[in-house]
Amino acid sequence: PLKSLPAILPDPLLQVAQLARLDRRPEKIDLTIGVYRDQHGQTPVLESVKSAEKHLLETERTKSYLSTDGVEQFCEEITGFLLPRGEVTCSDIVTIQAVGGTGALSLAAEFLCRFTKNRTVWVPVPAWSNHVPVMERSGLTVRRLGRSDSLGRRDFPAFMRVIRHQARPGDIILLQPGCHNPTGDDWTDEEWSAIADACIASRLIPILDVAYHGLGRGLHDDISRVHRVFSQAEIAFLSYSCSKNFSLYRERVGALIVGGLKRGLAMAIHPHLSAIARAAYSMPPSHGGSIVGHILANEALRRIWIDELADMQNRLGKIRSTFACHQALAGRDLRHVADGHGMFTLLPLSEQNLIHLRKKHAIYIPSSGRINLAGLNAGNLSRFAYALSQLNNQ
Ligand code: PMP
Repeated sequence: PLKSLPAILPDPLLQVAQLARLDRRPEKIDLTIGVYRDQHGQTPVLESVKSAEKHLLETERTKSYLSTDGVEQFCEEITGFLLPRGEVTCSDIVTIQAVGGTGALSLAAEFLCRFTKNRTVWVPVPAWSNHVPVMERSGLTVRRLGRSDSLGRRDFPAFMRVIRHQARPGDIILLQPGCHNPTGDDWTDEEWSAIADACIASRLIPILDVAYHGLGRGLHDDISRVHRVFSQAEIAFLSYSCSKNFSLYRERVGALIVGGLKRGLAMAIHPHLSAIARAAYSMPPSHGGSIVGHILANEALRRIWIDELADMQNRLGKIRSTFACHQALAGRDLRHVADGHGMFTLLPLSEQNLIHLRKKHAIYIPSSGRINLAGLNAGNLSRFAYALSQLNNQ
């Protein structure tokens, strides 16, 4: 009954993660999947989340359907939290709860494929490994623009050249404002402002992918880059994930927020987003959205969450500087790791290096060389640094 099925390669990241799962050596260091871990290597449920769940369990009265847009309180609270009226000058803002950040990207891409003339999206290289598959699945044509030079450092002039001279008005551009996955090498404030201005001058449609809010420079500074775009663009899309900053990965909670200067446009887009969601999955699950909505609405819980998030952010900062110090002692200049933001950095390792690390040291790194810094802690960091330093002698 089916056409012949072509073989497809499994995601290389998931493959290495699976190898790591199967490794029983107690000294194993798993730096694969992008999940935050505390100093004990655990990804616990946040205290703020536990309290919100307790409240939900006690007060929930029905499991009846939600609207296609998801949990109302979630949509209201997340919009006010991310884009407060005083800080952005959008004419109207529309929010729809999405099935994680991936779902938000997917909704935006599907809408833009239906309603843009060029049907073209610019995706920077390197990018999160799912960016291209998500954009292509919607039917958009993906074009790439390099954000790194041959040494892997961000290349601002080259990036700007493409925006100014190659992208056409009406093209879409997918940008990560901060905590760049996979490099951690974010644009400076000045670079970001220039990129935002150039995108607007070239009349591109920005999709801003924010999956690590609060884990970079802090809650305010991470999102102010979004405010700049939403206050200037005719229309802009914010794809927001609550997976990392609320540690709600498997609950699949995110939001797609649309706004911009052109009066009435976001409002006109809204029913189309709802129609796409309705046909795809009808409505998002309620649990994750209800948790986030309740935390943000409750002053005391919101404060607990902000402290928990700050702990994660601080720990990532400390790992960055300690790891860079270890490497400096071994004669490697990893200042960009210390200066970077978020959970990731890229290490220039060959396939041979990666196999050696895996076999000899039980250290798991995907083939891209991207490491999840949260997988490092006081108990394994020096061993990891030592194993890296031995690679030259291999
Ligand atoms: N964008 C980026 C840059 C990400 O790193 C991720 C998660 N790894 C996502 C989007 C998707 O997040 P979610 O798990 O909420 O779908």
